[in-house]
Amino acid sequence: PIYLDNIATTVLDPEVIAAMMPYFTDHYGNAASQSHSFGWEAMQAVDYARQTISESINAPHSRDMIFTSGATESINLAMIGLQGRSNKKHVITSMIEHKSVLDCCARLEANGIEVTYLPPDSDGVISPALVSSALKAETYLVSIMAANNEIGTIQKIEQIGRICNDHDIVFHTDATQALGKIELDMQRMNIGLASFSAHKIYGPKGVGALYLNSGNKNITLTPLVLGGGHERGMRSGTLNVPGIVGFGRAVEIAVKNMTVESQRLTYLKSLLREHMLENLSDIRINGHMTDCLPGLLNVSFNDVDADSLLLELADIALSSGSACTSAQRAPSHVLKAIGATNGQSQGSVRFGVGRFNSQDEIRYVCRRVVEAVKKLRSMTPR
Ligand code: PMP
Repeated sequence: PIYLDNIATTVLDPEVIAAMMPYFTDHYGNAASQSHSFGWEAMQAVDYARQTISESINAPHSRDMIFTSGATESINLAMIGLQGRSNKKHVITSMIEHKSVLDCCARLEANGIEVTYLPPDSDGVISPALVSSALKAETYLVSIMAANNEIGTIQKIEQIGRICNDHDIVFHTDATQALGKIELDMQRMNIGLASFSAHKIYGPKGVGALYLNSGNKNITLTPLVLGGGHERGMRSGTLNVPGIVGFGRAVEIAVKNMTVESQRLTYLKSLLREHMLENLSDIRINGHMTDCLPGLLNVSFNDVDADSLLLELADIALSSGSACTSAQRAPSHVLKAIGATNGQSQGSVRFGVGRFNSQDEIRYVCRRVVEAVKKLRSMTPR
């Protein structure tokens, strides 16, 4: 089978496995044990990963990187843990955030905080001008994702960060799909809080990080996981040393190859897109044509049910809508927000091209998709 679901998760890069392995076997110490070499080795490896990840996003201090179990936990710590200032009770986000952000917003609302959900345009872009016009005297937090996991649209986070900075408001960005794929600069982009995950970039599952700008006086977090005071008290629990080492190595590899890999993925994606546009009628490409994650292509096939299409393409691993919410078979909130009809949403497939996909695989997928769509359309009277 061909794996083309690299937005949902990715395979471990063999180099990442190699980096992690010694921390399962020989260097298994507890990073908090500072009375022997096993602990020192573990701590050194964690520090190195912290440094690597911090540098890759131009964070001012590596101590501002808190390791967590993944982006979901990072987002919860950022949004639920952030102490609003006493008189401030308003948060701005968008309608196309990941469920983990939207669920945190629902919790904030239940706690008496008002949340504004900004609509995207038809390409999935949240206009910075909309952020400006939604600001209130009580706004204390803006949370806008860096890149969308369903349609790939990249947001103007530098402009949004500037607006937040001008108004002394904390800016959190869910950068889960952005890290290692597009440039991120915590300082230039005025980002106060950013959430990351390792498994989207050929690192292990179950490890992520929250960057917090400790120099920003408006950022005070209340930890959600209490205990031994690890991670400067922000996230207690014995550190997942092999996972953190793998995360660091994964970031190192992704950042080193970002420019070249981004061009390669953009090219492979264009093969898919052009082949479908040339050979199929009634399709819609969802998301922004250029401000888009290099490997992500979301296509709506009119009059085709995506689940039937995926069954037809059983030898290719793909997602309909977003895998993260596919336990609930509701039309995607992202596609709805960009104005797709229910039909277009139901016929939507996400192609996630990744590091280990070859051109031959993509050409095979091109052929198979066109065949399958034509077959399904011929079976249903139109
Ligand atoms: N945000 C976005 C944009 C994502 O794509 C994902 C992963 N589907 C998450 C958050 C959650 O990440 P994790 O799996 O690390 O909890």
